[in-house]
Amino acid sequence: MRAARYHGPGDIRIESVDEPTLDSPKGAIVRVTHTAICGSDLWFYRGESDRDVPSRVGHEPMGIVEDVSDDVVSVEPGDRVFAPFFISCGRCEFCRKGLHTSCVNSGSWSGANGGAQGEYVHCPEADGTLIRVPDRHADDEETLRSILPLTDVMATGHHAAVSAGVEAGSSCAVVGDGAVGLCGVLAAKRLGAERIIAIGHHEDRLDIAEEFGATDRVSERGEAAVDRVREITNGGVNHVLECVGATSSMETAHEVCRPGGTVGYVGVPHGMGEGLDLEPFFRGNITLNGGVAPVRAYAEELLADVLQGTLDPSPIFTKTVDLDGVPEGYAAMDDREAIKVLVKP
Ligand SMILES: [Zn+2]
Ligand SMILES: [Zn+2]
Repeated sequence: MRAARYHGPGDIRIESVDEPTLDSPKGAIVRVTHTAICGSDLWFYRGESDRDVPSRVGHEPMGIVEDVSDDVVSVEPGDRVFAPFFISCGRCEFCRKGLHTSCVNSGSWSGANGGAQGEYVHCPEADGTLIRVPDRHADDEETLRSILPLTDVMATGHHAAVSAGVEAGSSCAVVGDGAVGLCGVLAAKRLGAERIIAIGHHEDRLDIAEEFGATDRVSERGEAAVDRVREITNGGVNHVLECVGATSSMETAHEVCRPGGTVGYVGVPHGMGEGLDLEPFFRGNITLNGGVAPVRAYAEELLADVLQGTLDPSPIFTKTVDLDGVPEGYAAMDDREAIKVLVKP
């Protein structure tokens, strides 16, 4: 089969590789019809994080089940399914408490499982991982585009909002205007937030934030952004969604948080250098909550809203490519020409 492989910073190639095989009793083979390039893929692409060379890439698969092992009960060949960025069993202590990202039988989509930016993936834990799309929606392209962000960014934005304690009537701020930040706005709106301040540097992305429900936009940088938020909120908000993972965004997050408030953080920490200074959190009794999003725990709830037409994160896909267009897709995201790239292998 053909799949994207990482060969070093800035170097993604489409190559012939071995097709994944059904080699676990609970496994399934999925033909990937839709997948995406993630903001987190840019870290190895930019050489900011280490990755084996060459290695298969992609972790946001959606497709058609081709084959299943005997023990699989929840899906069968022909079903349309999607899956979180993390493989989970659904049976262990952590899966049962909704913390699928700490699954003791976990796995990733790369390596022998195929890499989601390719033609086929193997899921070793089909029942615990795959989410079936009901048949009557299974071939509706528009609906599938709206479901695909549930593999990662929409559920991650939702985790930020939940972790920040957003509820009906809340005032909140969202730090970051990437795909996760925009989905955080959508999630806060969905949970009933009354005031949503989107903080970012790109006017076109802040336009989408407003479409998604942001009531205010702040495009100043650094201290000026903090001053602006404090000014329009009379001292900050009680709920902050941190959707970047950089030292500067974490600083902005606590600086716009009101004393006693909560920062929900979901950006993968990177470039933290000597670590995060906890003193401002201490001084303001600010709670830091969140972490890697247990996407599987939220999938059914978010899918139900997409299917009933009340949730649509698809505007984050500003570019669509086929498998051969994946290298170009990475470049477009790296240049910030595209917010998120949809791939149709
Ligand atoms: Zn992702
Ligand atoms: Zn588990």
